[in-house]
Amino acid sequence: MNDHFAHSPPESPSPPANPGQAVDFDLFLQCVHCGLCTSACPTFSELGDENDGPRGRIYLMRLVAEGRLGLDDRVRRHLDLCLDCRGCETACPSGVHYGRLIEPFRLAVEQSDRRLVRRFDWFRNLILLRLFPYANRVRLAMKPVRWAQRLGLYEAAERLGLFKLIPGRLGQMVTLVGPPVDPGPKLPKFLAAVGRRRARVAFFVGCVADAMFRHTHWATLRVLQENGCDVLIPAGQGCCGAIHYHAGDSEGARELADQNVHAFDLDELDAVVVNHGGCGAMLKEYVVHWKDDRQAARRRFVAKVKDVNEFLDQLGPIRPTGRIEAVAAYQDACHLGHAQKIREAPRRLLAQIPGLTLCELPETEICCGSAGTYNLNQPEMSGRLIRRKLENVLSTGAQIVLASNAGCLLQIGREVRQQGLPLAVMHPMDLLALSYRGQQPEIPLTAKRRARRP
Ligand code: SF4
Ligand code: SF4
Repeated sequence: MNDHFAHSPPESPSPPANPGQAVDFDLFLQCVHCGLCTSACPTFSELGDENDGPRGRIYLMRLVAEGRLGLDDRVRRHLDLCLDCRGCETACPSGVHYGRLIEPFRLAVEQSDRRLVRRFDWFRNLILLRLFPYANRVRLAMKPVRWAQRLGLYEAAERLGLFKLIPGRLGQMVTLVGPPVDPGPKLPKFLAAVGRRRARVAFFVGCVADAMFRHTHWATLRVLQENGCDVLIPAGQGCCGAIHYHAGDSEGARELADQNVHAFDLDELDAVVVNHGGCGAMLKEYVVHWKDDRQAARRRFVAKVKDVNEFLDQLGPIRPTGRIEAVAAYQDACHLGHAQKIREAPRRLLAQIPGLTLCELPETEICCGSAGTYNLNQPEMSGRLIRRKLENVLSTGAQIVLASNAGCLLQIGREVRQQGLPLAVMHPMDLLALSYRGQQPEIPLTAKRRARRP
């Protein structure tokens, strides 16, 4: 949100010689190698290789930590292919915190043996660390794409497959941009509750979510107002830090975390509400990523962070009255379902919409292949997973796909466009806001001509 907090990506303190030392070894010991997680793992189910499943990856990381295996390219490939979707955490009966193993391990790997690669990785240093986390910069960078869309050039390029000519991660990124939507005005500092005030909350705005899904922010704010919430939108907040953290810049992520912790006056709030699963998971994990003297403040902050579905479900939602006669499938975003364990709350909220038929999506627990920047870094596996996801969506006869995360919405939206499917892709708050206002969603009635894949 605030560019003045931009910083040069600093080098982290000296990394451990063995990346496994960055992980609490007891976490490895919690895994009893039962293998009950393997069928829940998207990469294992696609490839059938034990090394591309959670049990195998845990074993590989443990061998590296013990110094019994070198971190060679083969090991690295198996770890890089992990989506960090945390499906294995949900499936594991022993309560293994897989995310707490893979994330510090990856961070330590990034910081140890790839310093030179990182220094010259322009995409990471410019796009991931200096563009994505700042909404104003993303909006500016998207202007040429928006012009091309308005002139019809973008759609023509997509249909002719011209994006294939843009190499690597940049080519993947361009194709993720959805059609222009009216974002609504700049978010205000305060919005008053409709009717009797039931809660006073602050809203977390984020970065890419604000640049590309401001209409969803507005929908969320309206739903909160309709549910009797005064909403504050404090200045001074920024990106949650997930992009920095997952790109190996723990220090940059820590700066953003502390900026956010200080931006909210917690004493006057019932909750800090966030509407995208990836941001929410990162905010809640501020308490586990670092161990320094600011942990107490982070803990106070995290105690107030609530996903919007979770918050409204706990508050007791006020039933919307606008009928929406449609069939919708809800996709569990991994960082909401697996990382935050929030699965029933969005379903209960959506079930309140009169006329809506909510169907269960087969394999809803399987990642759609977005996974932060995974779809840019691992397009082949990501493509397999999103095609599998859309097959499952189509099998339900749904007209609307719902997901509570920006990455999923972009990933599903791209595949829907490329396959020319007659499906609307929305955040649950978008649909709820329409019902509160007595309006209807725009659902494409017929399939469109397919675009060529990049
Ligand atoms: S992570 Fe859990 S489910 Fe998977 S092998 Fe280990 S103990 Fe079993
Ligand atoms: S995080 Fe996801 S991709 Fe990685 S091992 Fe677990 S289930 Fe598999």
